[in-house]
Amino acid sequence: MTVERNRAQERGDVVVVSNRLPVRLVPGARTPRFEPSAGGLVSALKGVEGVAGWVGWPGAPVAAGARRQVTHALAEQALHPVFLDADEVEGFYGRICNDTLWPLFHYFVDRLRITEASWEHYVAVNRRFAEAALAVAAEGARVWVHDFHLMLVPAMLRAERRDLAVGFFLHIPFPSSEVYRLLPAREEVLRGLLGADYLGFQTADDARHFRSACLRILGLDSQPDSVQIDGRAVGIGIDPIGIDTVSFRDAARDPETADVLAEFERRYEGQTLVLGVERLDYTKGVLQKLRAFEHYLEQDPERSRTTTLLQVLVPSRLESPEVQAQRDEIERLVAAINGRFGRPGITPVEYIHRSISRSELVATYRRADVMLITSLRDGMNLVAQEFAFCQTVPGLPRRWNGVLLLSELAGAAQVLPGAVLVNPWHVGGIVERLAEAAVLTQEERKARLETMASRVAQLDSRRWAATFLSRLDTWARRRRRSRVATPLSEASRRRLVKRFARARKRTILLDYDGTLRELTAHPELASPTAEILDLLVDLSALPGTQVHLVSGRDRATLGRWFGSLPVWLSAEHGFVERVPGGAWRQLLDVDLKWLPRMERVLRRVASEVPGTHVERKACAVAWHYRQAEPEYGAWRAKELLLMVEQLLPGVPAEILLGHRVVEVRAVGVNKGVYVARLFPHGREHNHLVLAIGDDQTDQEMYAALPPGSSSLHVGTGHPLGPTRHQHQLPDPESARALLRELVDVVRPTA
Ligand code: UDP
Repeated sequence: MTVERNRAQERGDVVVVSNRLPVRLVPGARTPRFEPSAGGLVSALKGVEGVAGWVGWPGAPVAAGARRQVTHALAEQALHPVFLDADEVEGFYGRICNDTLWPLFHYFVDRLRITEASWEHYVAVNRRFAEAALAVAAEGARVWVHDFHLMLVPAMLRAERRDLAVGFFLHIPFPSSEVYRLLPAREEVLRGLLGADYLGFQTADDARHFRSACLRILGLDSQPDSVQIDGRAVGIGIDPIGIDTVSFRDAARDPETADVLAEFERRYEGQTLVLGVERLDYTKGVLQKLRAFEHYLEQDPERSRTTTLLQVLVPSRLESPEVQAQRDEIERLVAAINGRFGRPGITPVEYIHRSISRSELVATYRRADVMLITSLRDGMNLVAQEFAFCQTVPGLPRRWNGVLLLSELAGAAQVLPGAVLVNPWHVGGIVERLAEAAVLTQEERKARLETMASRVAQLDSRRWAATFLSRLDTWARRRRRSRVATPLSEASRRRLVKRFARARKRTILLDYDGTLRELTAHPELASPTAEILDLLVDLSALPGTQVHLVSGRDRATLGRWFGSLPVWLSAEHGFVERVPGGAWRQLLDVDLKWLPRMERVLRRVASEVPGTHVERKACAVAWHYRQAEPEYGAWRAKELLLMVEQLLPGVPAEILLGHRVVEVRAVGVNKGVYVARLFPHGREHNHLVLAIGDDQTDQEMYAALPPGSSSLHVGTGHPLGPTRHQHQLPDPESARALLRELVDVVRPTA
């Protein structure tokens, strides 16, 4: 750890980046005035120690002339505003966050609206947040990015500053890859998130969906707790957010809350009070709740004398016509239920459409008999935890009365084992659970509340933040310690080009698939493009230069594709070779009696696993499963390995694991055999040797290079990545660009 990093952590080094700042600008004030922002994030981070700065939007438009003053006023609280103009708020927040990401991530595919032109606002606003964070973050600082508004920020930070520990927490659900894949920018967003060292999710399902999307959409391999990208492991964890128990405990003990509660006790005496508290949003399932309550009363209209549903609906985004329509529908239904089941002095549904004070909120939580939460999808649902906590605040009288009916589609359902779970789409089920809740024994209510209370105490937001940050530390430390290949820097690239230009003799050894050419769905589709053929011809035409294609492919294919070019060919992992224009020559004598039996085993597996095929080579046989369902394919590959291992004792064959390929080949046949023969006396002075490859079979090529050679490794998405100290290129396109640059430096283009 550097001295700077130690110092940074001592004085508090966490930079929080979230869409909103913890305070919002009061619109219309002459001098900047701020009020606390509402919302779970702000209260969750209140108690975090070591926050050195917070980057976010001040919550209202600020005229260009007033921005300096606002920045100055916020700087006193270590808050760093990102100002957005009206266009940006509309494109970034309105179109992308609200119309696209919110419905998609909550599985509301029918509400999904995609405005492709607005994506550039999302990118631009993310960049502004990243720049603001970079300006604030000290050397080695921890930057904690929050939620779906800012999913590109982690990669933007990573690209600029390797010293930073970057964490990201997603507050909303991460959907199944089948839904997620509808997003046009699905790859960009995954790569954006994977810029982090550590990614936290609310539930195990969210983390699993994210890993699955990385696998299915980016083809990245993962472990249960990490995803591999660019030679790094990105930690994946489950960190359900909690509530600020200290502030709820204080509010519950506040005499003002006691007064409000006393009033509620009088008002609802003898009544079963069913409570609903949610923000006005279609994900919350308020209509489903009202319909269920209507059925509950229909079943036995006498219930309207004994039961009241108090529905608090906190206003949210009322400027949107869609939200207004939702509110109107809710209000019509409330009126219809009251019209049908109300009587003088009896209002079955009491409806409040505004924010209520903390004392009122806590008092209603304490008085309620049933908390009814029917979210159709919810990242966590803090209201559930708040209810469980307020019912059981230590040091206050406890009635042990409240029952929590909770949607199984809310994240909270996975952390509150004492809740009674309901499927919000099953109205009959909700009605049944409501009826059961009304007659649940005191003993069972108490047992359920006690279980929930202890869980809520564990989930407390301060602990949540501390745990998240310590996990971030662990993953960032791992990355800093691991000596993986580093991207080819501009300086190294320039050095290589210079050495190449000056060399008297040059030998270039190139793997083909995944190095010169992008991998394709089936090997037959990866034929060389005109660009690749031209490149090989141009490289070979440079003075004193030999180009060798060192591939695992069979000789027939290599001959067909490259036979007429002035390049040396090595096929089947070094088993056969061909000089330009010559005939194929076998390099080794090998025993292949084991091969037919092995081939039968592989063919049987291929017949059982859709999308896989067997490739028979001269001295090897390979099972390719790139096109199989990835998890099933990986599972069958493991099983196949065990089978093959049992057949191997006494057999001169070995297993080779490639990227989604299991190959069994004759011992002693590898790319290194070919390469070693090229340099029987090592490398002469001023002889530049450069090898470029992309997978495990190329490690043998690198290992056989004479001292002083250069090697580059293409792509890093899988664990069979580059060796230590090796430089990497992101993809075949950049490998081709580098080779083209090498051609041009020796033979300047006309
Ligand atoms: N809440 C509020 N004003 C109110 C009533 C409730 O700010 O008048 C708070 C409530 O205490 C809870 C938050 O709003 O902390 C809602 O969080 P939740 O996770 O349930 O849903 P979200 O709105 O974040 O989707």
